[in-house]
Amino acid sequence: MNKGILVVISAPSGCGKDTIVNEIIKEMGDNASVSVSMTTRDMRPGEAEGVNYYFVSVDEFKKNIENGEMLEYTRYGSNYYGTPVGPVKEKLNAGKTVFLIIEVEGGENVKKIFPDCVKIFIIPPSMEVLRSRLSGRGTDSEEAIATRMEIAKTELERAVEYDYIVENDVLEEAVEDIITIIKAEKLKVNKMKNKLSEVINNA
Ligand code: 5GP
Repeated sequence: MNKGILVVISAPSGCGKDTIVNEIIKEMGDNASVSVSMTTRDMRPGEAEGVNYYFVSVDEFKKNIENGEMLEYTRYGSNYYGTPVGPVKEKLNAGKTVFLIIEVEGGENVKKIFPDCVKIFIIPPSMEVLRSRLSGRGTDSEEAIATRMEIAKTELERAVEYDYIVENDVLEEAVEDIITIIKAEKLKVNKMKNKLSEVINNA
């Protein structure tokens, strides 16, 4: 049983998952943090080593897998992505809420290892809104947007495997919804058992 709460967040590209998690962390302060993944993909403009990802070679990535240093990993597109296990366990043991922003395969694997994790899928209000958010970024060609929309559809079909679905229409509301879910998770009987025995034993 983890002392902290492990929160898996998945969403198609363009649903605002990073923005939502950053806002939640601003509100929760030291009580929450986001796991920094390892990837073999190239760094994008504006990204930084150790902030967005640990950028490594395929060899280095495979070495980490062999050494048992990955909580989960997957191949997404032509690149590997994975969650380093050490920092996650350390933070959970310290009672913190840890966010993993990962795709659906990774989410499924994490649930097998940490059955008491909470899985949240973020959806857009509609496919039209998702399309306009993707083209609004101005970073992708029409063709790339069409590919992302196709991928989004297959990912959305797997949202039913999650514990909660949060719609990101108004950012503040999506943030509030997730904070509410975390508050409820903290009050689940299995998380409150220590407190309960403390109360009983001091009666
Ligand atoms: P991007 O290349 O756009 O940063 O990420 C591509 C996809 O990989 C996103 O859905 C992202 O959430 C997912 N991803 C990022 N890190 C990890 C990870 O450590 N494990 C898994 N399974 N997916 C990840």
